[in-house]
Amino acid sequence: MYLSQVYEYKYLGFPHTYSGIDWKTHLNESARKSLNILDTFKYYKNIWPTYIKLHIFRIYIRPIMEYSACLAFYWMNSKTTDKLKNRNYLGSIDYSEVSNYHKVIQEGLEWIVNHNRMSSSACLLGIPTTMTRLYCLALKLQRHIAKMDVNNPLYLAFNPPGNVKPFTCFSFANKVYRWKELFTVYKYFDPTSTNESYSEQIKKVDKKVKEVKVHEMNKSIMGKLILPSARINLKKNDKIDIREKITSADKCVFIRDRKTRNNAVDWRINCFLFKYKCPICRKEFNRGHINKCDFIHQPPYNRFIKEKDIYLFNKDKEKYENLPKSYNILDSLLNHQNYYTFGKFTGEMIENSEKINENENEN
Ligand SMILES: [Zn+2]
Repeated sequence: MYLSQVYEYKYLGFPHTYSGIDWKTHLNESARKSLNILDTFKYYKNIWPTYIKLHIFRIYIRPIMEYSACLAFYWMNSKTTDKLKNRNYLGSIDYSEVSNYHKVIQEGLEWIVNHNRMSSSACLLGIPTTMTRLYCLALKLQRHIAKMDVNNPLYLAFNPPGNVKPFTCFSFANKVYRWKELFTVYKYFDPTSTNESYSEQIKKVDKKVKEVKVHEMNKSIMGKLILPSARINLKKNDKIDIREKITSADKCVFIRDRKTRNNAVDWRINCFLFKYKCPICRKEFNRGHINKCDFIHQPPYNRFIKEKDIYLFNKDKEKYENLPKSYNILDSLLNHQNYYTFGKFTGEMIENSEKINENENEN
């Protein structure tokens, strides 16, 4: 009896090959587990509220595939990552090396908001998209290695005595050990990054990660429309760093009333009254109509809006100079958590828009 020859075996859950652990296969397989769970949860898509789905995704689904995800940025082919050195890279990012991981993020976001709107739902929920997340995890790994406890069995490997070189130049471990470029060359994630010393960069990893996330949120129009006041406080501290808030979820995801919550989420990801007619001008609706068709002054909508709402709306425009032109009263109501008025306003819009559709179908 002979044992058959294998090219790969599993040890402690990791696929080992002739050249070491196959991290790419490991990430893809872990992501497949997350995908399977996501698949079984699809049944609850319309039953569970948005905030429950968000929690499940963050606490249960995403972590399953992230055990080795902090290494992805190190083993990915430079053909995939080099494009991200370009500050204004506008082409489509190549996800083929992390396809299953990307699928979990993509399908997870879609599952939470019930629509396929990757970048705006990422902004709304405070969940970074695939490459941004992998990049941030890779940055954090640098700090883990730099601040490794002396009792850690790996300490000696990374901090050898005397002039012993820890790893051979071209080894994977060496790249992970000290890849200084990681902090500075990927301008796509953080165009402001400077060429500080490695030890300085290590000290500021958290700040860097925050900046990378803020940059991603502010890239899309939707991200600019969600003001910091709309987002959850991650720390119970009034003197909170404004960037901290920009990267957390929009509070509207947690609205108790189902209809209002769904309208708020649809509004934030630009799916509200999608393919429906504008109740004022009767052309196909988009968010631009709120200002263009002057909803604030048109009955019956004008009776929902109080003076204070208009005051806050105008204040927003004063305070945030870079607000997109389409910023309107509905954005402002959500940003100031006036969900009651938002619910009444949007409920009325849906009702009137449906009436127009019914009338047109009858004629
Ligand atoms: Zn209109």
